[in-house]
Amino acid sequence: MKIGILGGGQLGRMLIQDALNYDDEFYILDPNADCSCANISFFTQGNFNDKQTVIDFGKDKDVVSIEIEHVNVEGLEALEKQGVKVIPTSNIIKIIQQKILQKQFYEEHQIPSPPFQIILSKEEEIIMDFPFVQKLNTGGYDGKGVQIIRDENDFNNLWDEPSVLENLVDIDKELSLIIAKNESGEIKSFPVTEMVADPKLNLLDFNICPAQISKEVQIQIDAIAEKFMNAANSEGLFAIELFLDKDGKVWVNETAPRLHNSGHQSQEGNVNSQFEQFYRVLKNLPLANTESCGFSGMLNLVGEENFSGKVKYEGLTDVLQLSNTYVHLYGKTQTKPGRKMGHINVVANSREDLLEQLISIKSLVKVVAAP
Ligand code: ADP
Repeated sequence: MKIGILGGGQLGRMLIQDALNYDDEFYILDPNADCSCANISFFTQGNFNDKQTVIDFGKDKDVVSIEIEHVNVEGLEALEKQGVKVIPTSNIIKIIQQKILQKQFYEEHQIPSPPFQIILSKEEEIIMDFPFVQKLNTGGYDGKGVQIIRDENDFNNLWDEPSVLENLVDIDKELSLIIAKNESGEIKSFPVTEMVADPKLNLLDFNICPAQISKEVQIQIDAIAEKFMNAANSEGLFAIELFLDKDGKVWVNETAPRLHNSGHQSQEGNVNSQFEQFYRVLKNLPLANTESCGFSGMLNLVGEENFSGKVKYEGLTDVLQLSNTYVHLYGKTQTKPGRKMGHINVVANSREDLLEQLISIKSLVKVVAAP
């Protein structure tokens, strides 16, 4: 089968890695000839934000999907009209692309997400109480395009662009649910993942699975997942990012209509990974068992501050001496501050053991540039 993917980053790369267990042809469209998938796929260099490029790329494929949501939706709509299978639907991608439409979607379908106001410019009357969060309608990614407005002083910095203004949630935990649906209508989710934030160690960049949550919280999450999947009415794999607040209530932060960083530990931490699951969605195969194999966690390998250039990984040999530790690099040759270059997964017998190992690995590795 000819599978076409818009985007050739690490998500596509790890999808192809798992899908190599089967017999398919992967076609990738990405503007960057040096992207993570370029050397492991039938690669087309091109702009996935251009309608005609998307149509030309997709028209002879059996299925077209995405590994980034910022793609040209009109191109995908045209492909759907031509009878090409597009997963997820262009409609749900369009809604998720724009924070304003996304928030309205949650409201319309009674999916709990923090109370909000929509503004098109900063001249509008702001009815939100301090503190609140401003999120740009488009162009936000990895925390960019999001700012907290705490008081009158911050108010002067309000961006003058179409935005969602949203209540600042008093966050106890940030959680993520990865859920998949195939054409036959089968739906399966992974155990909930938890982002661990330790301000002392500044460990903002690892997540662990399964999350430590109460039955009541799990019930709220299950209800959200059911409502979301009904409302989205689309095949695909989705990552629903959630806030658990200090009163025990769960809110939807946002959803990604694709593979997600919060599911990487599933590669070794679950019976099957998010990548295997997504592959099965693309082919309408029976969905895979998602059970956890003990406690698993993931540490992002991110380019250190002050280093740009040809990447060099320090400490990986030490990490490889540890058991139940798995290194995944994304095939990116150039590092820069904050760039996601790879990750390390760890599987352990207890949550305490897992956290201890992640903390020690974090101190061992560094992503720098070769001199
Ligand atoms: P991105 O899509 O760029 O990742 P998010 O909308 O997820 O942006 O916001 C980034 C981070 O900002 C979140 O992970 C969370 O820590 C914080 N944040 C976002 N919205 C809120 C909110 N309403 N209340 C509290 N913190 C928030």
